[in-house]
Amino acid sequence: MKRIALIAHDGKKPEMVSFVLQNKQVLRKAQLFATGTTGKHIEDTGLSVIKLMSGPLGGDAQIASMVAAKEVDCVIFFRDPLDKHPHEPDVQMLMRLCDVHNIPLATNPATAKMILLGLFEVN
Ligand code: PGA
Repeated sequence: MKRIALIAHDGKKPEMVSFVLQNKQVLRKAQLFATGTTGKHIEDTGLSVIKLMSGPLGGDAQIASMVAAKEVDCVIFFRDPLDKHPHEPDVQMLMRLCDVHNIPLATNPATAKMILLGLFEVN
């Protein structure tokens, strides 16, 4: 089963909910992980998701640790480029570790869609 981590900054949560709704059938086939508040929104769409800590409290760092351990197959991270974040160092760490470990990382819905197509159609 594919393992997908999902994170959305506050300004991007509506975009995440609409992405999840549009791709619900595919996401249902995966094991989903999310930071705390993002996870609650995903649950509200009817999907099950393993919720980690909220991002500012360490959730991004928890997902970064899963990336380093190769425990996720991709990360979908809708960052808000127009806002400041107290946990910016964790955000940078997560993105850096995706590159270190060659884990696909989508920071916008267009890329996320292509990653889902790749994950579920190639294998
Ligand atoms: P949240 O965390 O899903 O708990 O809001 C996301 C983030 O800000 O990184």
